[in-house]
Amino acid sequence: MNVINPRPYEMLIGDRWSTGSTGSTFDTLNPATAQLLAQVCEAGEADVDAAVRSAHEAYEKHWRRTTPAERGRLLRRLAALFERDREKLAWIETLNVGKPITHSLDSLKSMPSSLEYFAGIIPAARGETIPVGNVDVLNFTIREPLGVCVLIMPWNYPMTLTINKLGPALAAGNTVILKPSEVTPLSTMALARLFEEAGFPPGVVNVVNGPGATVGEWLVKHPLVSRVSFTGGTVTGARILASTASDIKHVTLELGGKSPLIVFDDAPLDKAVAVAAGDIIKNSGQVCIACTRLLVQDSIREEFLEKLCRRLDTIRIGSPSEPATEMGPLVSAAQKQRVERYLDIAEREGAKLVQFGREELNDATSAGFFVKPTLLLDSTARMQSAQDEIFGPVQSVIAFSDEEQALRIANDSRYGLAAVLFTRDGGRALRMARGIQSGSVAINTGMRTSFDAPFGGYKQSGIGKERGLEAICENMQIKNVKYDMSV
Ligand code: NDP
Repeated sequence: MNVINPRPYEMLIGDRWSTGSTGSTFDTLNPATAQLLAQVCEAGEADVDAAVRSAHEAYEKHWRRTTPAERGRLLRRLAALFERDREKLAWIETLNVGKPITHSLDSLKSMPSSLEYFAGIIPAARGETIPVGNVDVLNFTIREPLGVCVLIMPWNYPMTLTINKLGPALAAGNTVILKPSEVTPLSTMALARLFEEAGFPPGVVNVVNGPGATVGEWLVKHPLVSRVSFTGGTVTGARILASTASDIKHVTLELGGKSPLIVFDDAPLDKAVAVAAGDIIKNSGQVCIACTRLLVQDSIREEFLEKLCRRLDTIRIGSPSEPATEMGPLVSAAQKQRVERYLDIAEREGAKLVQFGREELNDATSAGFFVKPTLLLDSTARMQSAQDEIFGPVQSVIAFSDEEQALRIANDSRYGLAAVLFTRDGGRALRMARGIQSGSVAINTGMRTSFDAPFGGYKQSGIGKERGLEAICENMQIKNVKYDMSV
């Protein structure tokens, strides 16, 4: 057995570590071996209520009155502790999510800077003085925090998504409750130990665990919660929007995607191949911004695919703990079944499946949830496999003849999270960037989010922005004040 903590992980509620009121625990697995990794205490409704109340009390009694400098100091301390424990957190993420250790280490590298960034920019979120047509009236605005924020994370990037939500929420003066995915709670539980050490007052950060259908619902419906920031699937996002509608809560939704990678005939082909291959294998394709629709211009199709297939053939699939491994397993048996179901659908609707990679599995990993990188050749835009988010190492390859058709296919999706295009024609690149309906566009480079630039989706990929200065705005409200000086 591969247990990393002999006792069940407890939750952080106010000033105490809690096993929860129900005594229930759930298992979390290592997806590379399908073995038990640890057990985690599950919250009941009373625990959720206690967490929200402790966050509310901390907000009302203390946190809302702290200065940006005080909050910034604590966030910088947290950044330093994160840096100290970064390697350990990366290993936990590798064991629990199944992503290769090289990728875990890389994705956590910028997290201390993210916390420092939000510690630093909060003084820039100022109000303004507005001339309102009466010289006797002084009109100004004040930015204020929202109160208690619930931050709900999916299982694919537990740590980076937590940090990028947490930094701006705390910097803006809110208190928070974190709800990691029940599939991958362990890195968040290790992070939770650092809040105390950094000196955050009790109740400012709380962490509860359990299924979204119960614990998540209780959290988002709680009347003392002012804001919900959710990253996850579109169906769950819609449900959260409905659950919070009657209380008119502030909601930010970062949802699914089916992003296009468009390769024109004048593209730097080797670079485009590297990006296309990277999007299939990175975190086994379980990346919301992965380009899972590969649009290649007819005239270069053969040459491009030959290069791409050559690269995919060399991919080393195996234990995420091995530094040489390029692709690990999917996160769970359920996710593996979902991907395999979509491969069947794709085949039935006429796509040609080609699988790649060298599986280097041993006795321990032979039971893991591995799926080989797969291209769906001869796909068309309206196939179900080219419309639905599969969330695995699968890419639909779709042909196009000219710019107009490329844009039409790119936008033929209910999602609008990201798009990547390769062309040396600057005018075409900018026309496409303007025409594409998505929240992020990358030209002649891969899509990589950064904590200091806004990120969010168009269409069914979400509402609102996280990261960058926009994340601070999302975590605050503006009050307009008029003062008649003639009195
Ligand atoms: P889910 O939508 O299933 O779950 C996301 C989180 O929401 C989990 O913590 C889950 O809890 C919780 N949850 C589930 N139901 C509810 C509910 N009714 N109320 C409140 N919370 C709930 O997504 P996955 O975890 O399966 O993650 C994959 C999805 O996330 C993909 O669609 C992907 O595109 C999207 N994603 C989007 C990103 C973006 O920035 N746009 C980034 C990364 C992923 P539990 O799992 O414990 O049940």
